[in-house]
Amino acid sequence: MTKTRARGPVSRAVTGVLNAGVTPLNRMRARSVMGANRFFLLAALISLPWVPFVALADPPTTVAPALTHLAMICVWVICIELNRRQLYLSAATGGLLVPIAQFTYLASVFSVDAGFQLPLLTVGALAFVFYAPREWPGAAAMTALATAALVWTYGSRPFEDGSADVTQEQVRTFAIANVGLVVLIVSILAWFNTYFFMRERLRNERLLADAEVAARTDSLTEVFNRRGVAPVLTQAARDGEHCVALADLDRFKRINDRLGHGAGDVVLSHVARTLAEAVEGRGTVARWGGEEFLVVLPGMTLAEGVECMEGARRALEAEFADASVLEPVTMSVGVAHAVQHTGKDEVLRVADAMLYEAKASGRNLVVGSSLGEAVQ
Ligand code: GH3
Ligand code: MG
Ligand code: MG
Repeated sequence: MTKTRARGPVSRAVTGVLNAGVTPLNRMRARSVMGANRFFLLAALISLPWVPFVALADPPTTVAPALTHLAMICVWVICIELNRRQLYLSAATGGLLVPIAQFTYLASVFSVDAGFQLPLLTVGALAFVFYAPREWPGAAAMTALATAALVWTYGSRPFEDGSADVTQEQVRTFAIANVGLVVLIVSILAWFNTYFFMRERLRNERLLADAEVAARTDSLTEVFNRRGVAPVLTQAARDGEHCVALADLDRFKRINDRLGHGAGDVVLSHVARTLAEAVEGRGTVARWGGEEFLVVLPGMTLAEGVECMEGARRALEAEFADASVLEPVTMSVGVAHAVQHTGKDEVLRVADAMLYEAKASGRNLVVGSSLGEAVQ
């Protein structure tokens, strides 16, 4: 039973805001839109206390900048809505242009010493998060604009003095708060970036590992497929003498015809399991194709290989010998024994010939042969 944690209305609302507009997007683009929504939400929340802070610095001179600050917050909220309506470029452009204008304006009101131009430093990094990967020119343009505004504040006389009449104490408080804001924005950006990067990398590694296993496994019987067993065959030949067995179900077509293809599939997975259990710890089972299985038995002499497969044959016969089973299931096996470095094709050819022999000799049999000394 899977447990799902009930989520409260606040959690649902926040998730709704963060995911606004991502549904029809690819992963990469969705991440950039989610990153933008996160920023708009967080920036609006952080900026809200600044409104009274600015308004009360030198009333009534600072009422206008406080109201423009409030307007900036409203624009960020509107940007989330623009993302929801899939107007991504408008959201990204508005979401950055407005703070560039606002922080430049605040720097002119409170002087360069108050540090309101510092948040412009983060615009470049933010721009590259906001703009979806295919819109780098937009991010570059926004960075250039913010840099120009920053240079202008430092090089212009009105910015040096400011127009509001505020105390040194207030200027220092503003400066500290602005430095804090920049550090916060940069830290959050870095954390999100690392978090998503790590998550994406772990997910990709897991997908790759799953795909590799799937590529080597037969989906019906869950034993190796041809591709999966190939390196096992090569390794067995490299390590020394070994046996390779080809096992083919007897009159399997009849089972399919009488019980249906679905029942045939069930029988095949049972056979794979019986074979795997019979050779467990001594060899590797693979589905070679159709109703044919390949067994690699490393380090075995011909007698050992034949005996091992004889055990598997008997186990299969016994499993389906029950009176309640509608069709008996047996197999014929051809075993090839080879010495170190014998070619794969050669061993398989002999195993196949032995299988043919077993079929010709009446089925439900194990027949083996040795390749003798192989030429390297
Ligand atoms: P023999 O004893 O000579 O091997 O007879 P046979 O009927 O087993 O041999 P044949 O090669 O004529 O038929 C093999 C059958 O195996 C035919 C095919 O429909 C069936 N088969 C192959 N793959 C699958 C599978 O994945 N599922 C099922 N249900 N049947 C399969
Ligand atoms: Mg068969
Ligand atoms: Mg066959």
